[in-house]
Amino acid sequence: MPIAPTTGHDKFASDIDHKLQEIMKQTGKLTKNGKVYKITVDSLDFVKELGTGSCGHVVEMKHKESNEIVAVKQMRRSGNREENKRILMDLDIVLKSHSCPYIVQCMGAIVTPSEVWICMEQMSTCLDKLIKKLKEPIPEQIIGKMVVSIVNGLNYLKDNHGVMHRDVKPSNMLLDEKGTVKLCDFGISGRLVDSKARTRVAGCTAYMAPERIEPEDPKSPVYDVRADVWSLGISLVELATLEFPFKHCRNEFEVLACVLEQDPPRLPPNRGFSLDFHHFIQSCLTKDHQKRPKYPQLMEHSFFKRYEIARVDVASWFAQVLQKVKAQENLQKQQAASTTASATTTSLSSSSS
Ligand code: ATP
Ligand code: MG
Repeated sequence: MPIAPTTGHDKFASDIDHKLQEIMKQTGKLTKNGKVYKITVDSLDFVKELGTGSCGHVVEMKHKESNEIVAVKQMRRSGNREENKRILMDLDIVLKSHSCPYIVQCMGAIVTPSEVWICMEQMSTCLDKLIKKLKEPIPEQIIGKMVVSIVNGLNYLKDNHGVMHRDVKPSNMLLDEKGTVKLCDFGISGRLVDSKARTRVAGCTAYMAPERIEPEDPKSPVYDVRADVWSLGISLVELATLEFPFKHCRNEFEVLACVLEQDPPRLPPNRGFSLDFHHFIQSCLTKDHQKRPKYPQLMEHSFFKRYEIARVDVASWFAQVLQKVKAQENLQKQQAASTTASATTTSLSSSSS
């Protein structure tokens, strides 16, 4: 069976085809609690939507045979070469990162002529949705623990697989009920050659480092993991303040201009953040990428060191947050119901008079 809809006879397409053939050997199986099940798309029942991204959507599904819940990223295989590459990269990285506790775990995959499904462990939420629902900044000590996981995850990708993520942002950071933070979405991750990425791909512009926006040689852009360190810094300011640093910009071009022309974002003073945290963000958001730290240096930073050993109960904090969000949602539902009820009463009384 042909694996990828062929897009031409060029080498690139056949490389992708070959890689998918390799990955196919690992598909059609779901591993859960040490047991391996044979699966097809009919083995899973839809439960609910979990998220939509640019590459497809992620849904909660129940594996009928084991009754286990899985998160399934469903992507259409349009035959478009860039899209095939994204699917392949995402699948390739999650499949080989099973030993890393900071990368979302893949339990299996299904490839059909029209779709690719990646079955992952179900996480509770991504940090982007969390801050939107929470409507208040995440406390520094919780962020400290999150930073330890994210930096470890990014460092694992670099050290073990020679790749950088290239799309570091709160919606690609997942949190589970145990309080663990993991990275997801490796569709545009880039292979590093001599520790450098050499292709220009679209990530989310709002989190993009200056050297990726305006490379020294636009014909052959060269950047490294430090571009992800910048995106981490922007994400952390957003999580700690609940405000996107370039929120005053009216469009993407203004954001890009701001990143290039203005001083880098910082944590606001007088909000009780520790000096360590201020300095950690300042280092991540060093405009000159040559002076920006890489992971080993970040891991030596006093902020990282502190939270590497600190006992912080992220799980209890998250449980409280869930309760609070639920209470807020219930209140909103009650208010909406009473508004509808009084509107119905008014319209009934006006129609009867
Ligand atoms: P993007 O727009 O970032 O390119 P994408 O199409 O590549 O997105 P993902 O980032 O992998 O897709 O997932 C989209 C969203 O689905 C995430 O932001 C998150 O909210 C949710 N999600 C992804 N994986 C899981 C999971 N394992 N458990 C729970 N929710 C998840
Ligand atoms: Mg995403």
